[in-house]
Amino acid sequence: MKEFLARAKEYFLYRWEHPVQNTASSDQLELLKMLGISSFGRVVMVRNWESGDHYEMKILNKQKVVKVKQVKHVLNKKCVLNEKCILQAINFPFLVKLHFSFRDNSNLYLVMEYVPGGEIFSHLWHVGRFREPHACFYATQIILAFQYLHSLKFVHRDLKPENLLIDHQGYLQVTDYSFAKRVRSCMQRLKQGLGLVGLGVLIYEMAVGFPSFNANQRIQMFQNIVSGKLQFPSLISSDLKDLLWSLLQVDLTKRLGASGTGSATSSTTSGSPHATG
Ligand code: ADP
Ligand code: MG
Repeated sequence: MKEFLARAKEYFLYRWEHPVQNTASSDQLELLKMLGISSFGRVVMVRNWESGDHYEMKILNKQKVVKVKQVKHVLNKKCVLNEKCILQAINFPFLVKLHFSFRDNSNLYLVMEYVPGGEIFSHLWHVGRFREPHACFYATQIILAFQYLHSLKFVHRDLKPENLLIDHQGYLQVTDYSFAKRVRSCMQRLKQGLGLVGLGVLIYEMAVGFPSFNANQRIQMFQNIVSGKLQFPSLISSDLKDLLWSLLQVDLTKRLGASGTGSATSSTTSGSPHATG
């Protein structure tokens, strides 16, 4: 992995410093259907007229970005859109791939690999909970993907079932870099105990079937978060309980990852719906 990450970093740094610009145009693409609404526009499925290949296209409306005062956060001087800068520079099997990007007077367009299996969120909703080996299968892919991102000093900051898609082979594709940020040091965040909470929250939700710290009243939920009050159904194995206790530990010095080893799987951001630690 060390060698792989070193090579990956070289590739990333080149792309980061020399971002590709306008690599397609709208007349090359046929709009097929709406896939969803995104924070700054729409997500649609498109087909390349020439090749017949299908893609997902995220459309970001510039006016909306300005209106909700996210200019600094979303736009980037060097390559226009922060999310695009990141997507065009990264390359990892479990991270969604950007194929083309372009813009016009109103919008910015990101054309990405179409991931056909839907969100983990919908699958979880249908089956209630994943069996432990199934949750573990996804968790390991997230750990590898975030290890890669953290080696490049990126924090994703929006790890949640809606942003995890299943590809045609059943593997994960992490999407949505709207909140992602390059930081000075991921290690520093780990030492502060900030790193692995997002992973704990996600594994809990996949294996138990509802959010950790869940409560009927919002205020109670906040109290549960602050006091680290976790409840486990009897079907959860003791190994998994141990892991979740360590990941969601309130005492930062005791939290798994706080020693500064391993990958920091962060969801710590204001504005992120899953910001917990
Ligand atoms: P937002 O920043 O608004 O959350 P996302 O990038 O998460 O936007 O996209 C919104 C939704 O669109 C996702 O939750 C997912 O359901 C769908 N989506 C995103 N990327 C893809 C993709 N590459 N293939 C298929 N569906 C996708
Ligand atoms: Mg999203």
